[in-house]
Amino acid sequence: MSECVFCKIVAGELPSRNVYEDDELLAFHDIYPLAAVHLLIIPKTHIVSLAECTTKHQDLLGRMLLLAPRLAQTHGLESGFRTAINTGRGGGQTVFHLHINMFGGGERPAQG
Ligand code: AMP
Ligand code: ZN
Repeated sequence: MSECVFCKIVAGELPSRNVYEDDELLAFHDIYPLAAVHLLIIPKTHIVSLAECTTKHQDLLGRMLLLAPRLAQTHGLESGFRTAINTGRGGGQTVFHLHINMFGGGERPAQG
């Protein structure tokens, strides 16, 4: 069994508030939101971080990024949102399964 929290979510071994799912991607609400809306977009396959990505991940990364504006449309973020990919301990990454943080909502731009 994987020790990775996000792999456990993908496997249905941990609960999550999903907002999108397809063969390759899953998106769900962050458990400790840093903004009125804080979503996470992850690949279903385990990739540690952006630093581990190569050209073979180009399509997957493109799909992850392009999901953000689609989710914005369905989560009241038409005025805009912020994305963050924290990479490595030095980049503030705490869950070592690649993910895009997506922040928005509220009266001021999300600081995350
Ligand atoms: P970071 O690696 O800095 O981008 O942060 C990882 C994010 O994952 C944090 O915002 C956490 O609140 C979030 N997180 C950690 N565990 C869970 C979980 N079980 N369900 C949803 N979000 C989580
Ligand atoms: Zn994982």
